[in-house]
Amino acid sequence: MSRSEQDMKDLLRSLTLAAGAPGAEDEVRALVRENLGGIGELSYDSLGSILCEKSGEADSPRVMIDGHMDEVGFMVQSITKEGRINFVPLGGWWAHVLLSQRVDIVTAGGKVPGVIGSTPPHFLSGKKREQLLGLEDMYIDIGAASEEEVSGMGVRIGDTIVPHAEFTELKDPDILSSKAFDNRVGIGLMIEALLEFSSRDHPNTIIGVGAAQEEIGCRGAVTACEKAAPDVGIVLEGTPADDIPGFNEPQAILGKGPQIRFYDPTAISNRRLAELVAAIAEKAGIEIQLAVRRSGGTDAKSIHLHRAGVPTVVIGVPARYIHSHVSLISWQDYLNTGRLVRELIAGLDSAAVESLTDFS
Ligand SMILES: [Zn+2]
Repeated sequence: MSRSEQDMKDLLRSLTLAAGAPGAEDEVRALVRENLGGIGELSYDSLGSILCEKSGEADSPRVMIDGHMDEVGFMVQSITKEGRINFVPLGGWWAHVLLSQRVDIVTAGGKVPGVIGSTPPHFLSGKKREQLLGLEDMYIDIGAASEEEVSGMGVRIGDTIVPHAEFTELKDPDILSSKAFDNRVGIGLMIEALLEFSSRDHPNTIIGVGAAQEEIGCRGAVTACEKAAPDVGIVLEGTPADDIPGFNEPQAILGKGPQIRFYDPTAISNRRLAELVAAIAEKAGIEIQLAVRRSGGTDAKSIHLHRAGVPTVVIGVPARYIHSHVSLISWQDYLNTGRLVRELIAGLDSAAVESLTDFS
C-alpha cells in the first residue's frame, strides 16, 4: 500500500520537530520505532542507534540504508550565579547564526524554553559591533534570576539543547522550512523505503539504520555496522545546498534533484555503485546532481571502512542553511530521492553487489 504525500510530509514534520542532539536521540528513535515496529525486526546498538531488518527474497546481500538521527545542538556546560546558562556545541556551528535564537533545553522533566542572549546595539561600541562573538561568550536566558531558580526549573549540567523551530511551507509550497533537515530527511526516507518494501518483493535483506552521534564524528555508524554487517551501504543525508552567493558551480541546487556524492575528505563513494545510482536515475527519468565536495563528511566515513570494506554511496537531498535554526528543502527533491532509493534497492541483488567489489 503506497503512502500518500500527506502521510510522508506529516512524518517529515514530526521528525524535524523532534529533539535529537548527539547522544540524546530519544525522540527521533521513538518515531523510528513507532513507524517501523511490525515492518521488520528492531534492534539497537549500545550507543542508541536503531536498526530495522527486513528480509526479502534472499538473505544476502545485506543492504544498509543509513540515516543519522542526531542534529547539531548544544549541552549545558555550567550555570552562573545570575541564572545564565553557558553551553558547549555538539556538532559544527557558526556563531553568527545564534544570537537571539530560541532554544529548548531537554531536561528530565521536559523541555524548558530559552533564548540565546544578545546585547542591544545601544550598548555596543563601534568596534564590538564588528566582532564575531565566540560560543563560549554566549549564554542562554531561561528567565531565571539565580542558579537556584535555574535548578528549580529542572535544568542541570549535561542537559542537551536543540534549536526551537516551526515546520512551514513557504509561499511556493514546494519549499519547506524547518530545523534539522540534516538529517531528518535521511531518517524519513529510510523509513519510507522500509514501508514501501513491506508489501513488495526485494532481492536482498534491508537493514534500515537510524544512527546515533554522526554530528560529532560518525560514531553511531561504527557501532551500528557491527550489528548490521552490511554488504553494501547507502547513506541518506540532508546535504548542504550551495546555491547561495559565493559558489560559481553549485552542486546542490534546491529543486534539481538528489545529489550523488563521489567524494568528500572522509570517504570516496564506491565508483561502480555511484555510477549504478546515476544509471538507475537516468533510466527512471530522475534528474540528479553530482558532487565532489571540498569539505564535510557523512556516516560513509565509518561504513565504508567496516571490516574489509563496504561499497558505499552517499545520496543527498539538498538543504539550504543547514546547521542553523532554519533550513530549506524542495519537497520534490525529497520525493525524487525516495524514488531513486527505491529503484536502487530493488536492483541490488547478489550479482549486482558482488560486482561492486570484484577487483580480481
Ligand atoms: Zn548530516
